[in-house]
Amino acid sequence: MSIVSEETSGTPLSDRFIAELQTEFPHFRIVRKRDSVLSRAIDVVLKILTFGAQRAFMTHYHTVLWDTLYVPDRWASTPDVARLITLHHERVHLRQRRRYGDAVMTFLYLVPFFPLGLAYGRARIEWEAYAETIRVTARYRGSDAARDPALRSHVVAQFTSGSYGWMWPFRKQVDRWYDAVLTELDETKAKGTTGPAPEA
Ligand SMILES: [Zn+2]
Repeated sequence: MSIVSEETSGTPLSDRFIAELQTEFPHFRIVRKRDSVLSRAIDVVLKILTFGAQRAFMTHYHTVLWDTLYVPDRWASTPDVARLITLHHERVHLRQRRRYGDAVMTFLYLVPFFPLGLAYGRARIEWEAYAETIRVTARYRGSDAARDPALRSHVVAQFTSGSYGWMWPFRKQVDRWYDAVLTELDETKAKGTTGPAPEA
């Protein structure tokens, strides 16, 4: 719940959303991967497990472990709305952890590449978060942005490529998941229940 007051209207949307996250998750914090020994260790392990297919862990990927969001090098120069969309995606993971408990989430996120090449449970967990990415993109950048083929191929590649260890390499199925979210957005719009509402 957040109220946009006159005093805070100049605050970047992502900063306001971080404050919201800290209300829901009091231990939430953001740490740079470069400053994290754990992240650097994971980076090495991932490069080995994916035979080098996941080389962008430190530079491009955001990773939630427990209540900490580990951010890549480019976070510092990421524009406000892009940060906001990422934070919405990561909030899904924070809530999943509450829902499923530490044991399951640790299994899924500390051993994210198991079983390599086919990880349906993890794919569904990740899809729930990417569905939010698509919805929030539509909300803040318009429905054309959510339909942009570049976004679709980026999202689909997370499942079918080595980025997440080929977690669900069935492109047509992931495309159907994507279409279902777009249909849901259309239906919501038809009902007139969305608008340019910036509140999450
Ligand atoms: Zn995710």
